[in-house]
Amino acid sequence: MDLRNLKLLVVQSTPFCNLDCSYCYLPDRINSKKMSTNLFREVCDFISSASHLPERLNIVWHAGEPTALGVDYYEEMLLVARDVFKEKTKICFGFQTNGTLITEKWCDFLIRSESIISFSIDGPGWYHDQRRKYRNGSGSFDASMHGLKLAQGSGLETPIISVISPSILQNPHEFLEFCAASGAKRFGLNIEEIEGAHKFSELYSSQTEFHYMNFIRTLAEKSRDMDISFREIDDARKSISSSGHIMNSEVEPFNIINIDYTGRISIFSPELITDTAFRAKYHLPNIHGSSLEEIVSNDVIQRLTSEVSQGVAKCKEDCRYFNHCGGGAPSNKFSETGRLDVSKTNYCGFKKRLLLNAVLEELEAFSEKA
Ligand code: SF4
Repeated sequence: MDLRNLKLLVVQSTPFCNLDCSYCYLPDRINSKKMSTNLFREVCDFISSASHLPERLNIVWHAGEPTALGVDYYEEMLLVARDVFKEKTKICFGFQTNGTLITEKWCDFLIRSESIISFSIDGPGWYHDQRRKYRNGSGSFDASMHGLKLAQGSGLETPIISVISPSILQNPHEFLEFCAASGAKRFGLNIEEIEGAHKFSELYSSQTEFHYMNFIRTLAEKSRDMDISFREIDDARKSISSSGHIMNSEVEPFNIINIDYTGRISIFSPELITDTAFRAKYHLPNIHGSSLEEIVSNDVIQRLTSEVSQGVAKCKEDCRYFNHCGGGAPSNKFSETGRLDVSKTNYCGFKKRLLLNAVLEELEAFSEKA
């Protein structure tokens, strides 16, 4: 099997999270089990048996709070990965973290191991603390910012991903002030979505559409004069200026491989593997004792591939945004409809269609002024 196009190997070291955010998609976040070193070695052996690998293998520790396991755990995992892959590929660890457990020891490890870290912080304190809480109900903003500042003080790049919910939509300027003051340069804009264990989104309403468009337009306009960038706005601009035809890794078989702490494997959107309804419908195989070739030809993996590609075909048929989207996110299709072979969702309505419209409007207004 040729894995040259493998963009991400997403590994769940633990389902546990020290926070209890109200919009979290994970069903099992009080479970403190972890992937064993032996199983991680099996994961590495499994991937390294491919006929071809990318020059750099991005191993992202995800689907739980990875830093909850402490630095020593990942020191050991890095030794295992380097031992297995040797000269075959360069290993790059990535951590998406809430930042509350970041210490100087963590910063030292991240720098030494040339790992990438990204923080989940939603915006100004009052807004962040509405949803990103500890189990005792207190907000996590101060602890997250402490971790962010420690990382910045060590010289690490610190991109931030923020989740956009209705209560920030009428405060784009305050959101921009937070971005400028945070010291981060790159921001991702996720949305509060229906996904996995989170069954309802306050964002998905016709009343919020207007404010959402205005929020995105304002960010696009004002950030032109600031030293910050928004991933989704940059991507939309690039896509608009090149008339689309983007590559969507979430729908390409084996561009993303997801393995949970028990060795269960899935492909496509990383969020699928932790979705209990998805796991009940598709009995995912386990890498333990299986070869890569066996997993590639596994019936469930074949069925997933066929249904995801039917969904992409429907998108291509039904949607004028297809060239700018490439067929959406299978995890959101499944969470909203219980199926993969479908096209439009509330998620793509906000994250793709409204966002592209807002960015296009801002581009047109900017060109008229110029
Ligand atoms: S915007 Fe929605 S319907 Fe259109 S291609 Fe993307 S996922 Fe499919």
